[in-house]
Amino acid sequence: MTAPNDNVRKLVYQRDGERCIACGRQDLLEFQHRQAVGMGGSDHRVNVWEGLTACRYCNAAFEAHLQATALLRGWKVRRWVPFEQLLEVPVYYPLARAWYLLDRIGGRTPIDSGRAMQLMVDLYGALLYQQLGMAAAHG
Ligand SMILES: [Zn+2]
Repeated sequence: MTAPNDNVRKLVYQRDGERCIACGRQDLLEFQHRQAVGMGGSDHRVNVWEGLTACRYCNAAFEAHLQATALLRGWKVRRWVPFEQLLEVPVYYPLARAWYLLDRIGGRTPIDSGRAMQLMVDLYGALLYQQLGMAAAHG
């Protein structure tokens, strides 16, 4: 998997307040890729809006029992979404209880939850979005 350079990693950690996005812990932090990127041979350089700060445990859980929750909250994004479009996939920050859109320079802009829901439904479709919500509730 393509790794972010040190500057991108630093900007992402700063933007996220040097805390795990899911549980808030401040140690064992990792750069969490919102979207799986091609294995090997890719010269794609990872951008600030493609990553979030997550602790080792949550990062692993996003691939396991927290997968539906991670998708619903924009922490993970389906592989088929073009990477440029990640800018339009909102991210939920539970500690702030707020949705944000990430930008290209390591910032984030709050948006209201209604707009966030609409962006998610536009992306995944209402049915899939509902299914994700049920999976998250029961998972
Ligand atoms: Zn965590």
